[in-house]
Amino acid sequence: MSTYNFSAGPAVMPASVIAQIQAELPSMQGSGMSIMEISHRSALFDQIINNAEQDLRDLMAIPDNYRVLFFQGGGTLQFTAAPLNLATKHHNIGLLDSGHWASRAAEEARRVDTQVDILASAAATHFTTLPTLTTPVDQTLDYVHLTTNNTIEGTMYTKLPQTGTVPLVADMSSNFLGQTYDVSDFGMIFAGAQKNLGPAGLTIVIVRDDLIGHAQQLPSMLDYQLFADKRSMFNTPPVFAIYAAGLVLKWLKQQGGLTAIQAQNEQKAALLYDFLDQSTLFTNQVKPADRSTMNVPFVTGNPTLDAQVIAGATEQGLLNLKGHRLVGGMRASLYNAMPIAGVQALVDYLATFEKAHT
Ligand code: PMP
Repeated sequence: MSTYNFSAGPAVMPASVIAQIQAELPSMQGSGMSIMEISHRSALFDQIINNAEQDLRDLMAIPDNYRVLFFQGGGTLQFTAAPLNLATKHHNIGLLDSGHWASRAAEEARRVDTQVDILASAAATHFTTLPTLTTPVDQTLDYVHLTTNNTIEGTMYTKLPQTGTVPLVADMSSNFLGQTYDVSDFGMIFAGAQKNLGPAGLTIVIVRDDLIGHAQQLPSMLDYQLFADKRSMFNTPPVFAIYAAGLVLKWLKQQGGLTAIQAQNEQKAALLYDFLDQSTLFTNQVKPADRSTMNVPFVTGNPTLDAQVIAGATEQGLLNLKGHRLVGGMRASLYNAMPIAGVQALVDYLATFEKAHT
């Protein structure tokens, strides 16, 4: 039986990458040492991290005045690091309240004495829509925080809000490399690797170089300027995770890059949304224009039935469909490495379930 993993993260990785990791694990490039055993100061690792950065730059067309940093600490650490590094003038940021992860970002920013102004909120629609700006942004804000894809609520920005000269800081954790954006529209982008890029333990930060180096006395491990100066090797970086991410970036290039992968993602998502929209049992509540191509939450409206859907799916090898505990129901995450055959198998299963229960 083939299995398909719909987990929101850590999430499915390309099968060919897993196979390559398996083949290379005992001896990296004939060195007699595993990737997990080599020094981060070795020529071998130097090549791995440099290639990973270059491939990321190529795929996202990252301009030269942006630095690429390899962090640990997940997306969550960046909720702290971003205000500490970038909110240095006014200690005041704006935020678009698009759901759980945006709220978490606000909470962490406030913990480091940053004032957070909620510029717009989607709370009134229970986050089934995206918040949109209706008035011009106060130009004295240090930046505006935006979650490009809301992993739990299943909403995604395809058009960005206009913030004038105030930089946009994007938490791109759950649609990084799955949706194309123009990097120059952002002051900073960050993303945990464990959804579209590779194993957990690595977080990518892409930041415009004029925005960093203005903070005084930061803890070293939170200092973007220090990480930029030390090429992300101030201390031991997550060697294995960077290696695995590097393989995924090569795989993405083989798929034809981000435009091609985005087209595939749109096709996969449409397959599932089209089914849900005609279903008399299942519904996705999100306003169509605001729907995510990456995370698709849906419900029957009956928690007992939802549990049956999930249990039956698991028996068929359709794994990790349980919705986030905050919203319940089901959630299918359709990241880059989810093949369309997996989405088709899910739709077929849901259609069969619907016939048996209506
Ligand atoms: N932001 C978003 C949009 C997320 O989906 C997540 C994790 N699901 C996080 C931040 C937190 O990431 P981490 O667990 O890597 O700290």
